[in-house]
Amino acid sequence: MDIPRIFNITESAHHIHNPFTPEKLATLGAALRLEKGTRVLDLGSGSGEMLCTWARDYGVIGTGIDMSRLFTEQAKLRAEELGVADQVEFIHGDAAGYVSDEKVDVAACVGATWIAGGAIGTIELLAQSLRSGGIILIGEPYWRQLPPTEDVARGCLAGAISDFLPLPELLASFGRHNYDVVEMVLADQDSWDRYEAAKWLTMRRWLEANPDDEFAKDVRDKLTAEPERYAAYTREYLGWGVFALMTR
Ligand code: SAH
Repeated sequence: MDIPRIFNITESAHHIHNPFTPEKLATLGAALRLEKGTRVLDLGSGSGEMLCTWARDYGVIGTGIDMSRLFTEQAKLRAEELGVADQVEFIHGDAAGYVSDEKVDVAACVGATWIAGGAIGTIELLAQSLRSGGIILIGEPYWRQLPPTEDVARGCLAGAISDFLPLPELLASFGRHNYDVVEMVLADQDSWDRYEAAKWLTMRRWLEANPDDEFAKDVRDKLTAEPERYAAYTREYLGWGVFALMTR
């Protein structure tokens, strides 16, 4: 079981697989007023940066589940590196349908809401692991500017304009499902650059090390096209944020 190989190549050097910087991740942890011993579940935990740094900085304990073998391995190494391996556990597996045995204080899915068919389905999944009064974290894209055409939406690698909402409407959609939005931390264009532009150097180095790999042409084409595509579309039109929700 694994995710498509292209992600394990282009994001192999990322600690955070989202348009967030370490500073924004720390801001989010501080904003949530996390206390020592807070139990966190993270579905689609990637390389574990959120759990590991929050364990180090705020004393949280928790579990992450991710389908990438590489990212899960990196998460375990990161936990050891930060001295928090006794506080956090990383499981390689499918997070779709995952419900924890013990209820948690914070249940998160940060940038992997397709695991339950979108943000609302993922909220319903996370709610099953959450203690009463706990916080759900959802990381999700939104339109910073509404694309003028469907072609522009596709330039952002969305299937259609209707895939995402403008920020006020995304926030309203949480309300319609009976959740208060109690905090949020948003990406900005600089933090988007850290996510997207970091892939380019990784791809370039990978191409130099793997010229004969069957993926070399795909990676070459992507490296050639991505900077311009990203600057023209994603960087201008797509926003991203992590939203903290509590049921009303
Ligand atoms: N939350 C992490 C990773 C976000 S990227 C971070 O912010 O860094 C999306 C992650 O979802 C990737 O790590 C990918 O491996 C993982 N993923 C994709 N499908 C999955 C599934 N069905 N179950 C668990 N993880 C999945």
